[in-house]
Amino acid sequence: MSHHNTKKRITVTQPSLPPIQEFIPYLEKIWENKWLTNNGPFHQELEKKLAEFLGVKYISLFANGTLALITALQQLRITGEVITTPFSFVATAHSLWWNNIQPIFVDIEPKYLNIDPEKIESAITPHTTAIMPVHVYGNPCNVTRIQEIAQKHNLKVIYDSAHAFGVKLDGGSILNYGDLSVLSFHATKVYNTFEGGAIICHDEKTKQQIDNLKNFGFVDEITVVAPGINSKMNEIQAAFGLLQLNYLKANIAKRKIITESYQNGLKNINGISFLKDIPAVTHNYSYFPILVNTDEYGMSRDQLYFKLKSEEIYSRRYFYPLISNLPTYRSLLSSAKENLPVANEIAEKVICLPIFDSLDSEDVSKVIQYIQHFSRS
Ligand SMILES: *Cc1c(COP(=O)(O)O)cnc(C)c1O
Repeated sequence: MSHHNTKKRITVTQPSLPPIQEFIPYLEKIWENKWLTNNGPFHQELEKKLAEFLGVKYISLFANGTLALITALQQLRITGEVITTPFSFVATAHSLWWNNIQPIFVDIEPKYLNIDPEKIESAITPHTTAIMPVHVYGNPCNVTRIQEIAQKHNLKVIYDSAHAFGVKLDGGSILNYGDLSVLSFHATKVYNTFEGGAIICHDEKTKQQIDNLKNFGFVDEITVVAPGINSKMNEIQAAFGLLQLNYLKANIAKRKIITESYQNGLKNINGISFLKDIPAVTHNYSYFPILVNTDEYGMSRDQLYFKLKSEEIYSRRYFYPLISNLPTYRSLLSSAKENLPVANEIAEKVICLPIFDSLDSEDVSKVIQYIQHFSRS
């Protein structure tokens, strides 16, 4: 294109991609094997490597995170009502909808923006069968409290851990909490397989059942034990995932540096706040959300968002609009704004700043300088 733009475009995210020539041998191997899907050698190897890397016992790979969520709900035969958060990506609630389950939205806590455990019990009815919390931005939910509540009321817990790849709490994987935990390997996530996902479970029998479910319910050539779906990961995705693992540590280390630059650069700007790192947690630095206080900053979140955009800096208003305010869900009783004051407030204040492994430090400084420049101070 002859069009010349003086400003370099800074996007909120860019997928991590290894050098293409390193992927060619994997493709050659697939062509040689002629094994394209159905638990092929790369699929088997990736399950093994990921279990080791993440520190989990059993993992089952999926075509994407949404199908993994849908299958997880099927595995536990969840019906009726499920308690969840409105402050998430739409797939969390959609996975319930696709299973004919009614989402019951519970408000979030203001510190880490995860479901507020103290508000869960009052939302439980005789129809409640499970809780589906989300580790939003990779910050762990209050897993201990949620477990207590689930035990007391005999509810299952499925964590939407789409943001929590590699996150640890007190040295152990956050993915080991709940009956099941679900990952996404979408292009925009910290670890991607183009598209992909996984379910983490605690025992071999459950893994076997999940593996059956993701392949139409087949256990062998002629035995179909359940009305399963086709949600399995293919060999190209799995091979790519193996290659990506080589770059993961460097990717997260780079994101940590970017996070620290934002934390240092933004800490003294009036009206801008961000989530603090948690000492007991190994973070994955997948997102850098900030909250804009209009009065203190001198500009609203939306004004800042569009100002940045006019400078070719593309931030994202994750998670706005709230799931509970979308046409599909807004008529539910639990979607009432009075039921979800914190989530509604945060959804009006939040912006996720650009963060990805190939984002260079000058661009990070530029984002900080503009946010400083636009402020009242
Ligand atoms: C990305 C994401 C999903 C969906 O994962 P896909 O792999 O894109 O289907 C689900 N929940 C949350 C919170 C997500 O961010």
